[in-house]
Amino acid sequence: MPWMSFHTRRPQPPRLGDVSLFPTDHGEGEPVVAGKHIEVIDRLVRAGGAVLPSPETGYTVPFDPEVFKQVALDLLDAAGVRYLLHAFASGVRTPGRAGEVVFETKSGPVVVSARVTVDCTGDGDIAAAAGAPYEIGRESDGLVQPMTLMFRVVGFDPEPFARYVAEHPDQWRSVHGLWDLVEEATAAGDLDLPREDILFFRSAHPGEVAVNSTRVTQVFGTDVFDLTRAEAVSHRQMARIAAFLQDYVPGFADSYVVQSGVQVGVRETRRVLGDHVLTGEDILGARKFDDVIARGTYPVDIHNPEGKGTVLRSVPPGDAYDVPLRCLLPRHVDDLLTAGRCISGTHEAHSSYRVTPTAMATGQAAGSARRSRRPRAGFRARWRSRPCRRSWSGRAPTWARSARTSPGRSRPPTAPADHSGRPGPGRPYGTAGRRATGGPDSRSS
Ligand SMILES: Cc1cc2nc3c(=O)[nH]c(=O)nc-3n(C[C@H](O)[C@H](O)[C@H](O)COP(=O)(O)OP(=O)(O)OC[C@H]3O[C@@H](n4cnc5c(N)ncnc54)[C@H](O)[C@@H]3O)c2cc1C
Repeated sequence: MPWMSFHTRRPQPPRLGDVSLFPTDHGEGEPVVAGKHIEVIDRLVRAGGAVLPSPETGYTVPFDPEVFKQVALDLLDAAGVRYLLHAFASGVRTPGRAGEVVFETKSGPVVVSARVTVDCTGDGDIAAAAGAPYEIGRESDGLVQPMTLMFRVVGFDPEPFARYVAEHPDQWRSVHGLWDLVEEATAAGDLDLPREDILFFRSAHPGEVAVNSTRVTQVFGTDVFDLTRAEAVSHRQMARIAAFLQDYVPGFADSYVVQSGVQVGVRETRRVLGDHVLTGEDILGARKFDDVIARGTYPVDIHNPEGKGTVLRSVPPGDAYDVPLRCLLPRHVDDLLTAGRCISGTHEAHSSYRVTPTAMATGQAAGSARRSRRPRAGFRARWRSRPCRRSWSGRAPTWARSARTSPGRSRPPTAPADHSGRPGPGRPYGTAGRRATGGPDSRSS
């Protein structure tokens, strides 16, 4: 999947017949995430495992997951990190403290001690075990966003696909669509699509796409029985969608699934309550905080917890919201920080900051904060006195520096990309996402 939304958005007008297979609403704008994220991209590109962000990629970065694994190991080694794999954090030794975490391993339980622990489990497992308060799901009924098993398809021939889109320009919107073919396959009993349309992205290699079209609702990523069911259901969905692509979609006749995710992808579980709870209003109002440690631009993007449909609401063009340090400081557990998708926010806010670049930025911030002798009081005071508006490091690689000064930056915001699915009259900025769930609105992650 491409990493997205690490630039401010300058949405492009809808491009009928566009078969670049990149989203068009993540740039061109000012970069808002730098640091390790840029270093990872730079290493990936040098290793032939990613494509640089540019107007052609819609300012997203598709990458090769196998090259990523090598790059991640290289980075850990270069930083002198001692790491333990195949170890699952299952509890803490002292309630109310996270300094000694128990891991289940093949060698039996292992206790890892730290002055400050950073919970990057996505699910807030360590925070929950230590007794930090948390919330799950939307306010109305506690339901969470669905799970999705991603998969990569190779043997895709872009030319017949481009011809189909040229002949049926109402059937494809940059990374999603195929409504008529879905309808035809459904009527024939060949498909029972769990979402509103087919969604796929170009990968780092020609002839390959990353498909995001399975969906399992009403399952919780903190429940092993739900995870088991989601794993089985999503694999069955994948097989049907892959067969649909082969049998119905021009360009996919010789395609096959080369890899599915290492496990079904979990979008949403615990949100560990911190000293600030980031809200949907904070995101959509591009709110700024004195203790900012990361910035984000990804829309509020809520895949319907109950079925088809996706809500998309955008951060104002050219702007970004701040994530304050206080979202990383869980209440009641002093020797703990959170990073990634389990930081403190509402269901709506979480649907935005959950994406990879923002998660990486909070991870780097937590890693830096962890070094403080008093991570809560001391670190907060330090950031207050030195607010960080620049997340862009002076040591950024040349391609990243040039992105900052690209001529497009000074242009006024253009009309937004139309993510309304089927073509129709253009709508004023921001209205697309306000539709209720159920429409073909999504090109999301
Ligand atoms: C289907 C799907 C599509 C997405 N598409 C995009 C996209 O196109 N672009 C984008 O930028 N983002 C996308 N995202 C979002 C992004 O992948 C994640 O939300 C983001 O990576 C969150 O990172 P994280 O590290 O906080 O959590 P996770 O990615 O969930 O990582 C948590 C890690 O902790 C490990 N772990 C969990 N519990 C324990 C434990 N108890 N002990 C030890 N280890 C544990 C897990 O195995 C995992 O490795 C997508 C997400 C999903 C689910």
